[in-house]
Amino acid sequence: MTSSQFNHAATQAIGDITKYYDNIAERPVLPSVAPGYLAKILPQSPPTEAESWDKIRADMESKIMPGMTHWQSPDFMAFFPASSSYPGMMGELWSAALTVPAFNWLCSPAVTELETIVMDWVAQMLALPECFLSKGKGGGVIQGSASEAIVTCMVAARERFITRTLEKEGIVLTEEQKEDRSAEIRSKLVALATKHTHSSTHKGANIAGTRFRSIDTQLSNAFGLQGRELRATIEKLKSQGLEPYFLTVSLGTTNTCAVDDFASIAEVKRDYPDIWIHVDAAYAGVALVLPEYQHYCKHFSAFDSFDTNLHKWLLTNFDASCLFVQNRRDLTDALSITPAYLRNEFSDQGLVTDYRDWQIPLGRRFRALKVWFVIRTWGVEGLRAHIKHHLKLADLFVSLVKSRSDLFTIITPPAFALTVLTPDSDTLTRANEVTKQVYEIIDKEKKVFLTSSLVGDAYAIRVVSANPLASEEGIRKAFRLLVEAAETVLDVKK
Ligand code: PLP
Repeated sequence: MTSSQFNHAATQAIGDITKYYDNIAERPVLPSVAPGYLAKILPQSPPTEAESWDKIRADMESKIMPGMTHWQSPDFMAFFPASSSYPGMMGELWSAALTVPAFNWLCSPAVTELETIVMDWVAQMLALPECFLSKGKGGGVIQGSASEAIVTCMVAARERFITRTLEKEGIVLTEEQKEDRSAEIRSKLVALATKHTHSSTHKGANIAGTRFRSIDTQLSNAFGLQGRELRATIEKLKSQGLEPYFLTVSLGTTNTCAVDDFASIAEVKRDYPDIWIHVDAAYAGVALVLPEYQHYCKHFSAFDSFDTNLHKWLLTNFDASCLFVQNRRDLTDALSITPAYLRNEFSDQGLVTDYRDWQIPLGRRFRALKVWFVIRTWGVEGLRAHIKHHLKLADLFVSLVKSRSDLFTIITPPAFALTVLTPDSDTLTRANEVTKQVYEIIDKEKKVFLTSSLVGDAYAIRVVSANPLASEEGIRKAFRLLVEAAETVLDVKK
């Protein structure tokens, strides 16, 4: 493809994309294809001869689109959203155009320097404590996902715990003895989370090669972890000869957007400073742009790391998971290995940041560009208005649900534009059966996409109004469909 052919094709693609967005509400949010549909309509082998762009472009609409779930549709209220915006897309386009796997500063100084600047902007926007900014010992790095951020921190936490233990033991060891003793310590390490924490912490512990335990939390505390529950778990594990070394606390769990009790957990951390505490705010963290949520941040200076995905709720295209640490040395001590070919005078003199030492992969994408474009296009006030709009839609949804308290129960307090409800019924078993049937009707109709989940023992339906194109009309439609389905299942006379 020559420059002029690219110019033509890209102009057409922009036209196709804007048309797609302008008319997205008219497409069914969920596809109707059967598994294996694509293999039946695509050739089994790659083309021997070059194909025209026109032909490839036509296949986008005829072959790919029928198999797409339209996450940007206003009828998408499932999971958590995956944000998209035109400035975000422009960032992706430029990143693809420049294609620099900027693992160190020298690879492209602008990539590293812009990332440091925008991460400091994000930290300020979210009112994170100053210790997470780059001007001190901390700083931010853009990761691909919240799961990646957790594994990265877990490895740093593991190594920090082992180093501190060896220092406390104060015995002079040969390299081999040190390796053996480190392996012994590692075998006792336990990562902690609650039953409601995202599964990425358990997966991270598997990857980091340590144990994992989950702590029970109570519905009466909206499933948020309390300091006393944490303390009891730590004491129990220690009495068994095990060493808790990592804890994920949540600002917005996946099922119900539960928030752990940061104040009492921070007190426990004072007694156990070697346990790394990571704040997983993958989805809800961006709500901290609003001053009314910033009271949570005052406890974060007791914790080691914080992560939020701008690509979930803040208009930035996938992927932009913003990880902040209090002490960047914790990451670089664990992750920095410098073979000769990566050495250069700037890194050797410690003049620059090399983000390869803050992450698992070596190469990295120019993700800071889209974050920069988004923040500048909206401004902090614009981003606040964006979040507020979704919270208002959630308020509307909650008031609609409450207006039919004969049909529905909201099972945990609505939070961060997420409502979790069940159709009403006298016993839990009956309620679960009814909820399943209501969900199946909604799922089969494909007019709106919701997710179901198990909350404690209750089978529940989740409705999220945080999609960039979420609208009052969409919310009212989802509610109407839920009412119709519940009335059908409960056989209510209309
Ligand atoms: N944490 C929470 C609370 C989540 O809801 C999710 C995913 O939805 C994750 C972590 C994992 O996110 P990622 O896909 O970025 O790894």
